[in-house]
Amino acid sequence: MDGYEKELQTALVAVRKAARVTQAVQSQITDDVLEKKDRSPVTIADYAAQAIICHALKEAFPDDPIVGEEDAAELRTGENAGFVDRILEELSAIDVAATAEEVCSWIDHGNGTAGARFWTLDPIDGTKGFLRGQQYAISLALIVDGKLTVAALGCPNLPLDPAAESSPGSLFFAVRGQGAFVFSIEDDHVSTEDAIRVQTGAALDWPDARLCESVESGHSSHSRSAQIAQSLGITKEPVRLDSQAKYAVVARGEADVYLRLPTRQAYQEKIWDHAGGALVVQEAGGTVSDINGKPLDFTRGHELTQNRGVVVSNGPLHDAVVKAVQDSGIS
Ligand code: AMP
Ligand code: MG
Repeated sequence: MDGYEKELQTALVAVRKAARVTQAVQSQITDDVLEKKDRSPVTIADYAAQAIICHALKEAFPDDPIVGEEDAAELRTGENAGFVDRILEELSAIDVAATAEEVCSWIDHGNGTAGARFWTLDPIDGTKGFLRGQQYAISLALIVDGKLTVAALGCPNLPLDPAAESSPGSLFFAVRGQGAFVFSIEDDHVSTEDAIRVQTGAALDWPDARLCESVESGHSSHSRSAQIAQSLGITKEPVRLDSQAKYAVVARGEADVYLRLPTRQAYQEKIWDHAGGALVVQEAGGTVSDINGKPLDFTRGHELTQNRGVVVSNGPLHDAVVKAVQDSGIS
């Protein structure tokens, strides 16, 4: 069987490079920017990250479509020329030389259509966390025949060593059937052979279990999850964090359950918000489904049209969590 070695290496190098830009931009966010609710830092970092990753994938796998969250239509309008200049500056700071037209075309390469084999990318998942100086993720996954196959999930603000806040950020990765691993997001010279294997937690009882969820109550119902936690006998306070960093903390056993409970009828989950994280959790021994216990269906284009909400667990607790979600009356 193809080990997807080249796909993995390309994805890891590209995500690391993108993270250098997102970290530089995030570190420039001042209180003033926050006060003005100025979204330009996330706009610049988002486009720059998508440009870097799409360019790398295009070079290595010219025939692979990429279904990315962003496109360059707005950048191409004259009034946003300032953004393009800022993106070019950030790219040049990491020694990527490009013209405005090249950057726009790299970004638009991420405007592909899902097929038998394609990548999906969220260049900055958790934009609200990014702006608050908190968690965000760079999530990239390869899907082959509807199966999550390769994942690179960069979490620049999630310490590699959970016990040492000052440790470098984390880059999680997984290849279907080969386990899930993490290593530093910072050091380009670390080999995948030196990565640390990650495994979900062993909690079998509710008092030991920890739940995580979105910071944003508009993305997942906090009141419903509190009700479910109480019905299960989960006593620990939930951990709230933005982005697919939630998948990462379940994958390495810092949390045992991640609930994403719909807040409105019409919303459909996007594939790039789940593909990377879901493979990491599955390969770490966990289980991912929707609120009805159905596996996520990545064969329906850019949305998970056959699914509603998401339930992630360490594995052993999954059936009981899904039952409690169902019993809560959510639909
Ligand atoms: P999180 O950081 O987990 O809160 O999720 C961030 C993601 O939530 C974004 O990338 C959006 O695509 C997605 N999102 C936006 N609106 C909703 C919604 N109403 N329900 C669930 N997810 C949403
Ligand atoms: Mg997202």
